[in-house]
Amino acid sequence: MKILKIDHLGIAVKSIDQGKNFWTEILGLTHEFSETVEEQKVTTAFLPIGNSEVELLESTSPEGPIAKYIDKKGEGIQHVAFRVENIEEALAELKEKGVKLIDEKPRKGAGGALIAFLHPKATNGVLVELCERK
Ligand code: ZN
Repeated sequence: MKILKIDHLGIAVKSIDQGKNFWTEILGLTHEFSETVEEQKVTTAFLPIGNSEVELLESTSPEGPIAKYIDKKGEGIQHVAFRVENIEEALAELKEKGVKLIDEKPRKGAGGALIAFLHPKATNGVLVELCERK
């Protein structure tokens, strides 16, 4: 498996409109685009930093995974995403190594990426996302 870089940090916020102020007004990052991924009940906002990004995540429903995360742990870093060269290959390799996966197959994430999550039980409690972008 080839990990190319940290693609983005996923940060759970109650509201992107309010939450992004620190990142844009104070840190001077640019809010490049937002996208709602209905299957995940989440709206994402991407703010590039060099060739990585901060991804702000706001739940579209009280039942969504981000709303549940905030209920349990409060706002904060929810996942770390590594960009891989080939996500199918990476998942096959992890499976072979006995790593517990949330997604056995890649699915569509924001920005046209293919993504898959590893189980935090296998990663010292860190929710790790693999992501492949063309
Ligand atoms: Zn992400």
